[in-house]
Amino acid sequence: MLLTDDLFLQYLRCHRRAFLELYGDPDHREAPGDYLKKIIADSTANRKAVLRDYDYIRPDYEAKDFVAGAAATEALMAQGVDCIYKGVLLSPGAGGIDLNENLQYVAKPDLLVRQPGYSKWGDWEYEPAQIKLGRRPKLEYQLIATFNLWVLSDVQSNMPEATWLMLRDREPFCVLWEDRLEQMLEILEGCGTTLVHQHEPEVFVARNRCGLCDWQNFCHETALEQRHLSLLPGVTPKRYGFLKELSITTVETLRQTKPKSLENLPGFGPDVAQKMVDQAQASWSDRALPPRTVPMPPVMRSPVELYFDIEAEPELGVAFLHGVLAVDHRLGTETFHPFVAEHPDDEQQCWEEFLHFVCEVHGDAPVYHFCSYESDTMRRLGRLYGTDAVKIEQLVDRFVDIHYWVTQTVTMPVESYALKHIARWIGFDWRDSEANGAQAIFWYVEWLKTGDRAQLDRIIIYNEDDCRATYIVKEWLAEFVWSLGPDSAKTELTA
Ligand code: SF4
Repeated sequence: MLLTDDLFLQYLRCHRRAFLELYGDPDHREAPGDYLKKIIADSTANRKAVLRDYDYIRPDYEAKDFVAGAAATEALMAQGVDCIYKGVLLSPGAGGIDLNENLQYVAKPDLLVRQPGYSKWGDWEYEPAQIKLGRRPKLEYQLIATFNLWVLSDVQSNMPEATWLMLRDREPFCVLWEDRLEQMLEILEGCGTTLVHQHEPEVFVARNRCGLCDWQNFCHETALEQRHLSLLPGVTPKRYGFLKELSITTVETLRQTKPKSLENLPGFGPDVAQKMVDQAQASWSDRALPPRTVPMPPVMRSPVELYFDIEAEPELGVAFLHGVLAVDHRLGTETFHPFVAEHPDDEQQCWEEFLHFVCEVHGDAPVYHFCSYESDTMRRLGRLYGTDAVKIEQLVDRFVDIHYWVTQTVTMPVESYALKHIARWIGFDWRDSEANGAQAIFWYVEWLKTGDRAQLDRIIIYNEDDCRATYIVKEWLAEFVWSLGPDSAKTELTA
């Protein structure tokens, strides 16, 4: 079996993902979404830009024919060419370390750069380099760079001095492979065992790593069928490990667990233990539960209320849309106001128009938003465009973070306390089923490239729906608090 650097990278991100890449049913895999395609295109463009500085030779082989690729690469290395792009290195394992006799390891460093030194071909050796779109030397990059170096050391019969990461807009980063080698080999051994013996890793849905994975829907359905604990907010992989040791692996067993029995687990404590059991009870009964100890917020209702959401493009560093839904309870009207920077250069104008609206036109209304990004961005843009700091603080003082109040006030039967999950549970749905934050970034870039107004319009609709969702959640929360009252909330849970 060939264990490639690509498979190893998937394993570093998620053990299950490497397994599914090899043994999963391709019909269960989704095509990459627009945002992922954008990242791939950006990565290709970045690679081309870096390669302009190199005079390289590319070995001749059919894609995926790693045996032919390795032979062609080794022939170039034996000739001593200065720089090889997209070479293939194939080895049963370097330095006498035979991790698994059924495996051959395939490394595909972006560049192999000739250096003075020693190799089986003469007084030269090669150092590997990876070209990365990211700016930070993430651990996974460093481990793959160390893997490349390890395979290369066997192919050229000498451990090179360095392995490099070519990060975007940064100087080349030299990986301290001596620090990483042991860790890399240990993980590689686990990867080899999983793949050779076909041990299917358990599903564990973790939003931060599953979000861009092609197997996301398949794994989510699997987790739903199992009523898997990873679908409960607060159950991290580490906490799940401790729960498993107590044979608590399902929502049903967790909901019946006494919180006291979890309190002393590492990373738990009384609050987390209680919250986790409450979360399991809410999920099991599909019912929102009030808090046990945290005071509930006052009922929130004003004659005029503003609901606010920002869209931004992080690569360009531009906040290009400030969307505000103005709800006037006196008149019974709901009006959406999008302040759009149609070009990144218009950001300041868009910012000032937004400020005028929220500070001058509706200077008394509370501004509801979801999470801290909106208030953080107010301060950032205020500094960037020299807005009076007092004015910014007065504005931020009117902000009400609905995410904060939901998480402090109620335990909901949702998989996460993201706006989409909460609002959907309440019954709200977005008009455009494809829309999300990442997709909005893609649409904005497309709008800038093509001038296709439909792309911008989709973002505005999505942004309006985010504001409306925030409104629905706020209304629901106010109703929930009102219907219980602080004492009845506590009584119900302790009864
Ligand atoms: S969806 Fe998540 S759990 Fe499934 S393979 Fe991908 S990263 Fe792993």
